[in-house]
Amino acid sequence: MSATSDSAFIHRLPKVELHLHLEGSIQPDTLREMARRRGRLLEDTEQWIRDRERESFCYPKFTDFLNAFKLLSLLLETPDDYALATTRLIESLYAENVRYAELTLSAGVVLWKKQPLDAIFEAVKGAADEASGRLGVRVVWIFDAIRQFGVDHARAVMLHASRYRDHGVVAFGIGGDEERGPARLFVDVYREARDLGLHVTAHAGEACGPESVRDAIELLGAERIGHGTSAGRDTDTLHLLAARRVPVEVCLTSNLATGTIQRIEDHPLRRFLEAGVPVVLGSDDPGMFATSIEREMLIAAEHFALTRDEIAALAANAIQAAFLPENQRAAQGAQALSPVPNG
Ligand SMILES: [Zn+2]
Repeated sequence: MSATSDSAFIHRLPKVELHLHLEGSIQPDTLREMARRRGRLLEDTEQWIRDRERESFCYPKFTDFLNAFKLLSLLLETPDDYALATTRLIESLYAENVRYAELTLSAGVVLWKKQPLDAIFEAVKGAADEASGRLGVRVVWIFDAIRQFGVDHARAVMLHASRYRDHGVVAFGIGGDEERGPARLFVDVYREARDLGLHVTAHAGEACGPESVRDAIELLGAERIGHGTSAGRDTDTLHLLAARRVPVEVCLTSNLATGTIQRIEDHPLRRFLEAGVPVVLGSDDPGMFATSIEREMLIAAEHFALTRDEIAALAANAIQAAFLPENQRAAQGAQALSPVPNG
């Protein structure tokens, strides 16, 4: 297939996005719009954008990426800022023919900033309801805690997620520094989350080895793994993912930009597929990596020689992997994958 016909096919394909951070989705133009609405252009905003452009949206070390994410989060000062980010994100999902998305809010970062999480989530929810109603893109939420901030922090995030279960929060997860926040610290918090009826997920195998992926599954009961990249070099972990049918959210550009892999050819996407691991594609932080879900699908098609059937299968995997009740999964699947695009 040519790249042009690939991109037309991918654009037409109705899509589901499961690995996408609200904060990391924010485009430079939206940051500037946010600052204008506040009535002052923050020097920090321009500096952050200049840094991203100078470094071509890449990060020399994973910790540099975490720091850039923190600085970006600090540019969000008010509930209105979060609401604007939500509106612009849903508009961009609509433009890419995404029908359903599970968006991650770094609730842990909001608590760390000592900002009012209740007011922020209400603003986000209001903006999402408006944009979803206008554009027909359904979104639900995952509240994410920061591994290196420890157990009490994670539990506080999880309890907030649980309180909002009737308001569109479907899951609790952790991200950040796997080394300073290993899975074993969060065993009780994850059990409590599951008991409270939350789905659970975890970023793992991004900056640490395959044992981090195994621990997320075996100790935490993670239903999905964000990235899971290092699992590609360990047969036992691949077997575990395949046997338990734990989907891996593959974010190719993110892995390259943060140094998780050095070259796109090094990514284990093909090994995941050959081992029978359910794979979905995600854009992760499109505003920080200058990417999008369509671009991720195009990169997968081009660099891993995926056929159209394989690309469509990844899109279908995302419906299966979604944190939806079975009856809604069927409805969402029918809506999202029909009509099957051709040409
Ligand atoms: Zn992520």
